[in-house]
Amino acid sequence: MISLENFNLSIEFHTITATLDTALCVGAGGSSGSLADKPILRNTDRNLLIPASQIKGRLRHECEKIARGLGWAICQSPTPNTMCPQREGLSENEEQKFHRDDEYKIDDQCDDEYKIDDQCDDEYKIDDQYHCLICQIFGNPSLPSRVLFDDLICTENPDYLPEVLRPGVTINRRRRTAEEQKLYFLETSPVNAKLQFTGQIHFLPNCPDYAKVLIIAGLHHIHALGGSKSAGLGWLTWNLESTLSEINTESSAWEFLAKGVQK
Ligand SMILES: [Zn+2]
Repeated sequence: MISLENFNLSIEFHTITATLDTALCVGAGGSSGSLADKPILRNTDRNLLIPASQIKGRLRHECEKIARGLGWAICQSPTPNTMCPQREGLSENEEQKFHRDDEYKIDDQCDDEYKIDDQCDDEYKIDDQYHCLICQIFGNPSLPSRVLFDDLICTENPDYLPEVLRPGVTINRRRRTAEEQKLYFLETSPVNAKLQFTGQIHFLPNCPDYAKVLIIAGLHHIHALGGSKSAGLGWLTWNLESTLSEINTESSAWEFLAKGVQK
């Protein structure tokens, strides 16, 4: 029997908040109910949101860069055949690291949390496989993610937020002129409103120790989200709850990550 109470207790979660310094343009293509060609994303309560998938994707990318910078062999996401455990196209030198160093090895054959009546549930059974540090956090097609993200929801009442439309014109890059008949409208959040978007990151019990410090470092590398960043949209600053900021100073996880350079 799985006791849900025990399961929930062992998941550690932390709240993160993004404060927007400029307007945000996270669009939902093809939605109706707005005059814009690309309306902004909202949940069913009409609150503006930044989707979890976007946070996770950007964060994975930043964490990959940091881990590579620290000397670890990291697979190429997001195409499944270039990711762990297949890793097509990875250099021989890097591939050798996977089978030489224990850090890449996943040998927790069956995590207690997923255990049902003393038997492993096949879906969660992980063979002796070699996965890079990033896949061990964010997962891949053969390894479930050990960290879960919420959508970041805007805390401001949507009734008080005016609909902002921003006109744009498609540019022909070859001729460097505006294309005729290609005027479009983007919906953005209000400019300079310092809107806050908040949600949680959930760390599952089998999440590696270094996941938190790497994710905190990765968040600090994300300075903008959404579309039209070069046009000044989506720039933000992060506020992490104090319990998460304190983790950042834990040296044991950084000591582990620093070992990548020595290998
Ligand atoms: Zn990987």
